[in-house]
Amino acid sequence: MLDEVEGIIIKVIPYGETSKIINVLTKDRGVIGIICKGAMGLKSKLRSVTDNLDYGIFNIYYKKDKLSTLVSVDIINPFKKIKSDILLISYATYITDLVSQVLKQVNDNNIYDDYIKALIKIDEGLNPIVITNILETKLLDYLGVSLNLTSCNICGNKKDIVTLSSEKGGLICKNCYKDEKILPIEIIKILNMYYLVDISSINEIKIKDSIINEINLFLTSYYDDYTGLYLKSKDFLKKISKL
Ligand SMILES: [Zn+2]
Repeated sequence: MLDEVEGIIIKVIPYGETSKIINVLTKDRGVIGIICKGAMGLKSKLRSVTDNLDYGIFNIYYKKDKLSTLVSVDIINPFKKIKSDILLISYATYITDLVSQVLKQVNDNNIYDDYIKALIKIDEGLNPIVITNILETKLLDYLGVSLNLTSCNICGNKKDIVTLSSEKGGLICKNCYKDEKILPIEIIKILNMYYLVDISSINEIKIKDSIINEINLFLTSYYDDYTGLYLKSKDFLKKISKL
């Protein structure tokens, strides 16, 4: 029976002379493998709709736990801007890897939704660091290492917060402060906003570059220290964005 499945291509593997196998991260069925017969042929109508990051409705003959077979794709968004820019591709690759890892641990439709919303916003030209950081902030809950942004992470004091430290796992108050780097206190407010904002509602970003970079550094080391995730695509991103 022909099935319609919403999803995005996260991996493409050549198969035989003219075919491909695509891995599609779907809205409702996790990652599924689909064979695209003849899709590398010059005249195939599947050729232009079976690349990495093609997002759409996949019309398939679905086989659970086996390769499904592709019939056609109705593209929702080809993410053209992302595909034309190596830096944006790197961000998209990283968040794809990250979301794939998180989905191995937790199954929640919000993760897929936030991931697609983030790609749409990056493709619309919004700052990819900010959008990536917002997604990273939201994913911390699913990874079981939520950021505590309301009280000192050492003593629980809600007052006299002086800075935020990834090494100490969150906020630090005056009494617990030793020699941690003092970060601008507005970072706490912005991180809270990252945590709460609906990504699809963001139309412009008015945050100073210096603050964006501090938050990115903080989240990068928080991820390194607490999530146990190691992603090659993140290393690559660090290199090319010269973090
Ligand atoms: Zn304290």
